[in-house]
Amino acid sequence: MSKVVTNQIKKSISELVGRTPLLEIVNYEKENQLDAEIIGKLEYLNPANSVKDRIAKAMLEEAENRGVLKKGTTILETTSGNTGIGLAAMAASKGYKLRVYMQDGVSEERTKVIKAYGAEVIPFSNVPELVQTLEETDGDFVAVINVFKKSVAEKEENVVFLNQLENEANPQIHFETTGPEIWEDTAGQVDILVAAVGTGGTISGTGAYLKSKNPNVLVVGVEPGMASIATLENPDITEITGVHRFSDIGDERVPANVNSNVIDEIIEVETSEAYNAARAVAKSDGILVGISSGAAIWAATQLAKRPENRGKRIVTILPDTGLRYLSTDLF
Ligand code: PMP
Repeated sequence: MSKVVTNQIKKSISELVGRTPLLEIVNYEKENQLDAEIIGKLEYLNPANSVKDRIAKAMLEEAENRGVLKKGTTILETTSGNTGIGLAAMAASKGYKLRVYMQDGVSEERTKVIKAYGAEVIPFSNVPELVQTLEETDGDFVAVINVFKKSVAEKEENVVFLNQLENEANPQIHFETTGPEIWEDTAGQVDILVAAVGTGGTISGTGAYLKSKNPNVLVVGVEPGMASIATLENPDITEITGVHRFSDIGDERVPANVNSNVIDEIIEVETSEAYNAARAVAKSDGILVGISSGAAIWAATQLAKRPENRGKRIVTILPDTGLRYLSTDLF
């Protein structure tokens, strides 16, 4: 029997990236007596369960097109987890080797998942130069990346360092996919975008697209409050994984992919508030999301309570799944 050709049967997980649904968290809105809509973009429904699948696919394809990624090349990336997981899944499906350098202390699920996809995980503590730089600069990731280039990436042959902090394919893929998806699925009726800022790729690309369609869209970044940043004196503070603080640090510490022209406002969220919001939406609307999603929902809640935002539509990026935090005290 000859088989009917259908494009509904995919041949690679890269075909499953994006086109994530929007969900209005109606029960949460009611419980909190909100007069604005909070709509989550469920990025955990990507094939490797986070928003980072988008940039994993985009950065790999960009490196292939540039000719620096071929069979036998080892891909290198530094990540707090989700980018490593997305890349590990894509690298497995495309047949590439991947080595992920991860900061010590991120949830153990992340390491396990990356290894399950067949990639290698190197803790930062195996590379003394990285730990030393983190300590000396009190967590300056831009400085760490520069040291990584010199002490790891440039010392090896046949490797490609994707570098999500500086790789233009990162914001670009959000400009090409995340933004248009939100625009289409809301029929152009979106007033506010809320996104947590890590590399800045999500907010910069998505925000720039939405503003190109309607300059009045308000783009709000979410960053950790001062009490939620681990320091040399207080190393045990629980942080919002994947999210960084940029507003009151020197320009040289802000990653190239944070486009501050696109960001209209920053809302600070403490880890405890992020936890509360993530716990609340699991019970109210049945969505199990991670800490940065909780932070984004908490920020969206503050916006929804402002009188000037009555009746407005707030689209909130929910970057990853709560299943990635079962070893932590989130749930
Ligand atoms: N939340 C989580 C859980 C993340 O891993 C990241 C990426 N570091 C972000 C939010 C922020 O996304 P972006 O890097 O695009 O700013």
